[in-house]
Amino acid sequence: MAEETIFSKIIRREIPADIVYQDELVTAFRDISPKAPTHVLIVPNILVPTANDVSEAHEQAMGRMFTVAAKIAKKEGIAEDGYRLIMNCNRHGGQEVYHIHMHLLGGCPLGPMLSL
Ligand code: AMP
Repeated sequence: MAEETIFSKIIRREIPADIVYQDELVTAFRDISPKAPTHVLIVPNILVPTANDVSEAHEQAMGRMFTVAAKIAKKEGIAEDGYRLIMNCNRHGGQEVYHIHMHLLGGCPLGPMLSL
């Protein structure tokens, strides 16, 4: 069994977070340390640690993450200019929290995709 992270507590509303969207499959909340004017994390309500752990059973939640990202981008007024969706996996990907999440970043030009 994978170990829960702070994101499970946010999903269950046991600790404070700026939740912008929640339904039966996913939760979206503002990143505590935003890297862009809009920086929202979209997570499945069930614990899937990394992209490596995604299976067919998670397809509905993974798909919902994308539709919710598009909805939030529209609501934040960044859809037209554009934004970036990022999912970091493990050490080389720079993953810090082992509850899979999609970063929705936008609100300004985001620069090059990678800086190695
Ligand atoms: P990653 O490096 O892809 O695992 O990203 C983890 C993200 O979670 C970072 O951008 C953190 O700033 C963010 N984060 C960590 N703890 C919290 C929290 N309690 N509330 C909101 N965002 C958080």
